[in-house]
Amino acid sequence: FLEIRNLCKRFPSGQQKLTVLEDFDLTLKHAELLAIVGRSGSGKTTLLNLIAGLDRADGGSILLEGRELIGLDDEDWVEVRQSDMGFVFQFNQLLPEFTALENVMLPGMLRSRDKQALESKAHDLLARMGMEHRASHRPTQLSGGERQRTAIARALINDPRLLLADEPTGSLDLESGQRVLELLFRLQKELKISCMLVTHNPALANLCDRIHQIESRSES
Ligand code: ATP
Repeated sequence: FLEIRNLCKRFPSGQQKLTVLEDFDLTLKHAELLAIVGRSGSGKTTLLNLIAGLDRADGGSILLEGRELIGLDDEDWVEVRQSDMGFVFQFNQLLPEFTALENVMLPGMLRSRDKQALESKAHDLLARMGMEHRASHRPTQLSGGERQRTAIARALINDPRLLLADEPTGSLDLESGQRVLELLFRLQKELKISCMLVTHNPALANLCDRIHQIESRSES
């Protein structure tokens, strides 16, 4: 489903370059849930940013269902991000002036003209995340776990085939983090979405189908 080969990323670091990823290989199968673990600074977020086209690689290949992503122009990246990928971050970045339902609908507004269908899909996703009774609440009226559940529903509104989640429960205590991830995992399996989950937490990584450890590199 996703095949990463020889991926390289360096950042300028004073006079030197910091090599974060070098000849990095990774394969993600269809509908697989993969945990990405590694020390702080090992390049986990950098990897997700490269897959999402939010940062440029210095070399290598990223094939998404056979389509090469490295080298796409900005317009094509936007299209890939909108139609193929969903994102969840540590801090959910919900818009405070909108309700949970409206937040979930927002990414769909750019693509769908059928507002009613979109609204009913947003309701369905919120219900699957156990959030139906909070649909008309604004983010400040929601708990941290409820905000993350809303963010997950939002990430799925455009039927992505790949979900990239960067420490989605990093701001929550273990118990509510675990509950949020259980809901995410159930939905991921039901909808057969391929998912990469960055986490520091071994207990959460162990709930995934497979774990990939990123090795830290030194300055060169
Ligand atoms: P954490 O677990 O702490 O979130 P991480 O594994 O996600 O860490 P990254 O955020 O991918 O690590 O960063 C990898 C390395 O690259 C770090 O040393 C970081 O300082 C460096 N880095 C990341 N982005 C940039 C940038 N835009 N410019 C320079 N260096 C960067």
